[in-house]
Amino acid sequence: MSTADTSEIAACLQAVRARIQAAEQRFERPPGSVQLLAVSKRQPLAKLVAAQAAGQHAFGESYVQEGVEKRQALADQGLAWHFIGRIQSNKTRLIAEHFDWVHGLVSADHARRLAAQRPPARGPLHVCVQINLSGEASKAGILPEQAEALLAEVERHEALKLEGLMTLPAPAEDFATQRRPFAALRALRDQLASAQRPLPMLSMGMSGDLEAAIAEGATMVRIGTALFGARAPI
Ligand SMILES: *Cc1c(COP(=O)(O)O)cnc(C)c1O
Repeated sequence: MSTADTSEIAACLQAVRARIQAAEQRFERPPGSVQLLAVSKRQPLAKLVAAQAAGQHAFGESYVQEGVEKRQALADQGLAWHFIGRIQSNKTRLIAEHFDWVHGLVSADHARRLAAQRPPARGPLHVCVQINLSGEASKAGILPEQAEALLAEVERHEALKLEGLMTLPAPAEDFATQRRPFAALRALRDQLASAQRPLPMLSMGMSGDLEAAIAEGATMVRIGTALFGARAPI
């Protein structure tokens, strides 16, 4: 990658950080209360290196093998790796061994597998449970009424640390429509949280709707194309 590309990624990173800060201010969120996850799936390693040089430390990957390879290429640099894709049973070992976070937990069986396969030396795997708020069977995530049971399963495992909830709504154009599923996720979190179960993390918001997510309480936005440009085809 040329130095022009490197400085372009630094500029995109700065622009996204500015959008986050502006939304924090506009919606009266404390400064710094929204973390940025750089979604680097199907992006070349050089772009991750450029983002890292510009101060980005948390990266999100959707394909296990690709994420494992990138982590190995960028080892020992203090980066955090988040698995944000669909979890498959035959990939839980690699996820447990190589990632720091999973955002898309949808099954008790996956929770048990990840816990059993987590190397103790790596400390607990941080977990968000994915909620389907659109009710479409085609969308990933469990239904809100199934959340309590899955949260309880996660809490049974010392190798897992329950962080909160995640959602990935269908794209919407207007701001009010964008806000609706994010408001619903926050309401569900408020309903399920307690002193013993704080559920601090609301993983919601992407390149096209991060302001709506921050308005509704996002604590981590997952941003791909606004940082890195269009992704390579699958
Ligand atoms: C790809 C992806 C993103 C990033 O989407 P952009 O629109 O490129 O910002 C966020 N979250 C998940 C779960 C993804 O798969």
